[in-house]
Amino acid sequence: MIHSTFCKDIVDTIEKIVKDNNQSENILLHEPYFKDNKALNYLKDCIDTAWVSTSGHWVMKFENEIKKITGSKYAVAVSSGTVGLRLALFCVGVKEDNEVIIPPLTFIATANAVAHLKAYPHFVDIDKSTLGIDPMKLANHLEQIAEKKDGNVINKKTGKRIGAIVLVHVFGIPARINEIVNIANEWNLPLVEDAAEALGSKTDNKSCGTFGSIGVFSFNGNKIITTGGGGILVTDNKNIAIKAKHLSTTAKVEDENGNIFHDQIGWNDRLPNINAALGFAQLEVLNKRVKFKRLLARKYIDAFKSINKVKIISERSKNELSNYWLITLVLDNNLNDTSLLRNEIISIARKRNIQLRPCWQLLHETKMYKNCFKSNLENSESIAKLLISMPSSPQLIMK
Ligand SMILES: *Cc1c(COP(=O)(O)O)cnc(C)c1O
Repeated sequence: MIHSTFCKDIVDTIEKIVKDNNQSENILLHEPYFKDNKALNYLKDCIDTAWVSTSGHWVMKFENEIKKITGSKYAVAVSSGTVGLRLALFCVGVKEDNEVIIPPLTFIATANAVAHLKAYPHFVDIDKSTLGIDPMKLANHLEQIAEKKDGNVINKKTGKRIGAIVLVHVFGIPARINEIVNIANEWNLPLVEDAAEALGSKTDNKSCGTFGSIGVFSFNGNKIITTGGGGILVTDNKNIAIKAKHLSTTAKVEDENGNIFHDQIGWNDRLPNINAALGFAQLEVLNKRVKFKRLLARKYIDAFKSINKVKIISERSKNELSNYWLITLVLDNNLNDTSLLRNEIISIARKRNIQLRPCWQLLHETKMYKNCFKSNLENSESIAKLLISMPSSPQLIMK
């Protein structure tokens, strides 16, 4: 087979990098790590004081640290990234039967958060260099299908209100955020940033997640830092922050005598104190992690220069800084049988106990979302078949 040396070369190159400084048997895509931080001390504090649940000072410390790191005015910790996205969409006014513009190349949670509000994903295509929404395609698409009517934006083809745009910073690579902000402003559409994968990523020295009305980060176990499970909303809008906090904490109101009332149907979306303590310990070393992840990406980029017909998805320009959450290979479009090649590469790696992963099933190809409204999605469809994510934990090269 003509391609078998190609596949082997790729896996050899990855193996050399990930096994350089690593003793572990199985090398996974992204693993939690606690040897570089004070997680155990902070968890012990929760247990010693018995503040392990939905109140306690670690939640506030965690929110404050996220504000400091991202430069946002407000932060509301929640129990997952998915919940955070659903709450964000609700807070910017997405209602039942609305459409929400999202890209098809993302984790399923982006669409599920829309569906949890009984709204519908409306897919627009991505840009092949960032894997985020393509601003040109978004602008043209809106021009064609949307109209402003009584202060709302309506999809002329479906008659439904478009409630928001969600962009995703895929694998930590900043999407073309400034251009997308301009389009959202032109249409007066709220912009939510799914920055689940992008804590530590920046554009023009400003944190991803702070350009739109609300940004959402995830702290699931495979992300750059983890709270076990959790997420956070960031915003500069005080009203949104108050609303998000209120709705995520059962819409509770307490009077001066300690009587408790609930003034609407809220959610229990709170992040427990013990999870916040775990996360806080890693926020203290976030800079170092980003630095090592970027060094790891640099190693991969350099190593793959000598192999034809593959490259690594990387920042477009010096104004952009990626946290390289998952460092991802893209096979050349001109290769034949890329899905066979990709399977072969992944299977060779698996035999050497190295986990590689193809990218997600495109969301408009899932049975739940296949009938949703969509633009032409040619970029998403052509690049999705070519992507392979590689082990990206910073501890692979941290000394
Ligand atoms: C992880 C992730 C989410 C969801 O976060 P959870 O904390 O797992 O609910 C949402 N969007 C993207 C792009 C993600 O990678």
